[in-house]
Amino acid sequence: MQRTMIGKVEPCKSVKIQGFVEHLRDKKSMQFLVVRDITGSIQVTIEKEKLPEIAEKVSGLLVDSVVTITGEVFKSEFVKLNGMELIPTSLEVESYSEALPIAKDSSIDQKMDYRWIDLRDPKNIAIFKISTFIEKCMRDYMINCDAIEIHTPKISVQSSEGGSEVFKVDYFGQPAFLTQSPQLYKQMAMSAGFEKVFEIGPYYRAESSFTNRHATEFMGFDVEMSYIESHHDVMDLEEGLIKYVLERVSQNYGDVLENVFNTKVVVPTNIPRLKFKDVVEILEKEYGYKSIKNDLDQESEKLIGKYVLDKYNSEFVFVTDYPFEARAFYSMKCEEDPKYTKSFDLIWNGQEITSGAQREHRYNVLKSQIEEKGINSENMKDYLEFFKYGCPPHGGLGLGLARFFVKLLNLQTIKEVCYIFRGPNRIKP
Ligand code: ATP
Repeated sequence: MQRTMIGKVEPCKSVKIQGFVEHLRDKKSMQFLVVRDITGSIQVTIEKEKLPEIAEKVSGLLVDSVVTITGEVFKSEFVKLNGMELIPTSLEVESYSEALPIAKDSSIDQKMDYRWIDLRDPKNIAIFKISTFIEKCMRDYMINCDAIEIHTPKISVQSSEGGSEVFKVDYFGQPAFLTQSPQLYKQMAMSAGFEKVFEIGPYYRAESSFTNRHATEFMGFDVEMSYIESHHDVMDLEEGLIKYVLERVSQNYGDVLENVFNTKVVVPTNIPRLKFKDVVEILEKEYGYKSIKNDLDQESEKLIGKYVLDKYNSEFVFVTDYPFEARAFYSMKCEEDPKYTKSFDLIWNGQEITSGAQREHRYNVLKSQIEEKGINSENMKDYLEFFKYGCPPHGGLGLGLARFFVKLLNLQTIKEVCYIFRGPNRIKP
C-alpha cells in the first residue's frame, strides 16, 4: 500500500500513514496516539480489547518513536484534531525513541545540543519551508535580471575582508583560509565580463561575538554588477529585490506568518536613503545620541530604525556614504569628499542586514587603498591581478540570510534560523 501524507487523509478511506508519535495517552481500555508527518497530525484510536497485538506494541512506545500504521479513517465529532480518527489494522514500530532530552521550555542552548529533535517542531520546519521559498524568490529575481549564478571557492590563499577574523586551514602543508565572503571572487566575475552575478553561499568569520546576530559560519546572498554609475544602482536593485521577495512571501506565507509567527509582512514602497553624516546629526538632534564614531553601532542602528519608522513609516533604511575608515579597502571613495565612500548598509527594523558599495576597479587606486589600510599589497597580489587586464566599473552587496529571516519572522536570535548554528563555543552537533 502506498503512503498517504497525513495532510491528505480523508474520512472513509483506507490509508497507510508514517510519522512520529507526537502524543500518547494510554488509558485503561483505550489508547490514543497523535501521529505527525511533515504535512500534519492525525489521531489514531485503539480499543485495547479489539486490537490486543497493536495495543501491546503501543504500550511499549515513547513519544517521538517512528511508526507505520495502516487502517480506516472515520469522521468523529469527539476528536478535536480535524474531526476524524484512524482505526488501525496494523502498526509497525520503525524506530523506538528514548525519553526525550529536551522539552518545549528548554533553553535555546539545550535545544541546540539536540538540534535534530528541536527541528521536529512544526514551527521550526515552517522556518525552513519559508527560507527555501525566499531563496527561490531571490534566485528567480536575479535570473529575471539576467544575472549568472556562481559558486566561488571557500578555500583560498587570500582572506577577503582583511583583518584577523579568518579561519586558517592547512592546505596540503600550505597555509590557506576559509573565505570571509565571496567578495574577491565575485569581483573577479566582473573582470571576466559576467556583468551581473549572484551567489548563495557560506561566509566564515572567526570573530568571537556572542550576540543574537553573529555566527561564525552563515549563509549570505551576494550580488555583483558591472557598469553602474554609483552605489545607488546597487541599492535600486536591492530595493526591487526586497519588494519582490516580500510581496511573494506575503502572498504565499502571509497566513503562516500571522498565525505561527505572530507577525505581518510590510512591503516597502520607497526605502529612504540617508547619508551617514546626516544620520550622525539626526541621532544627536533627535535622541541626544553622541557616541557614533566612524560606523553605526547596534544602538545607533536601533535608533535610526525607530526614526525612519516614525518619520517615513518605513521599516527599512539605506544608510549611505560611510567613512572610508569604517569600510573595506575595496570601497570606492566619493569624488567630492574622499573621506567618505560610495557605500551603504540596509537596516531593517533597527538591524543591519546588508552591506554594499561601488568597488574601486582602477588598479593603481585600488593598490594605494590597500596600502592606506595598512595591508601588505604583496598579500593581495593575486587579487590585484583581476584588475590589471581590464575591469568594468562595478558594485555589489552582501545580505546575511539568517538576519533577514530573523527580522521577517520576528524571532530573537539567528540561532533559531540557522539549520545548525556555529558560534565561538558551538561546533556541535
Ligand atoms: P556587523 O557589523 O553586524 O558585524 P559586518 O559589517 O561585519 O556586520 P559584512 O562584512 O558587511 O558585515 O557582511 C555582510 C552581511 O552579512 C551583513 O550585513 C550581515 O547581514 C551579515 N553578517 C555579517 N557578519 C555576520 C555574522 N557574524 N553572522 C551572521 N551574519 C553576519
